[in-house]
Amino acid sequence: MPQQPDEIIYDRRRKRMMVQVLPGGKVVLKAPVGTSRRKINSFLEQHSSWIAEKRALMEKVAPPAQALKFVEGEMLWLAGRQYPLHLADKGAKGLVFKQGQGFFLVKTEQKNGAERLKTFYREYTRKAVTAEVNRLARQWGLQVKSIRITGAKRRWGSCSRQNSLNFSLRLAMVPPEALEYVVAHELAHTRYHDHSRAFWTFLGQMLPDYEVQRRWLKQNGLRLPDF
Ligand SMILES: [Zn+2]
Repeated sequence: MPQQPDEIIYDRRRKRMMVQVLPGGKVVLKAPVGTSRRKINSFLEQHSSWIAEKRALMEKVAPPAQALKFVEGEMLWLAGRQYPLHLADKGAKGLVFKQGQGFFLVKTEQKNGAERLKTFYREYTRKAVTAEVNRLARQWGLQVKSIRITGAKRRWGSCSRQNSLNFSLRLAMVPPEALEYVVAHELAHTRYHDHSRAFWTFLGQMLPDYEVQRRWLKQNGLRLPDF
């Protein structure tokens, strides 16, 4: 018998079988409803070398981040590090961070964990980003119209034609140097509204090691949890 997939999904709308290997190495087979075990096995047999190769490859790729559950001891990111979440019997409604101890949330707010975390991250990002924008804008003589913190999942920041800057509250999770890079990147757009050579040259003057931070975000951005 061929190696079995980790999951079989029977799909009403599906006409033929398909096998997928996900980041982390999980093998998923999709089949039309009612496909026999015999047909599945022969399909797996036919594709066994492809599956083995792909699995070896995908095992090296980090699996996508899991959604947070807000349970006791769960690790939450802040500024590039992880800290445990503690559920408390009483306390403030919001999520609280205590240096050296981690995050605290009252048990009754556990069901609102995602909202509480977003509020916390939003405020943290607003403070951190505003400080960086002010510092770098002054240093490089740049003008910013406004700063807005968004819930964007795939975009760290953006800069409008009018030089209004948007930053994702997810920046609260990344190391301070990576946050600094995103701020410098968007600020550099106030001078060059494109990704021209001039833009990157200017960014390199603002932040000589920006490549390192850019790589960190590319490699780790998608692994940071969803909530
Ligand atoms: Zn850009």
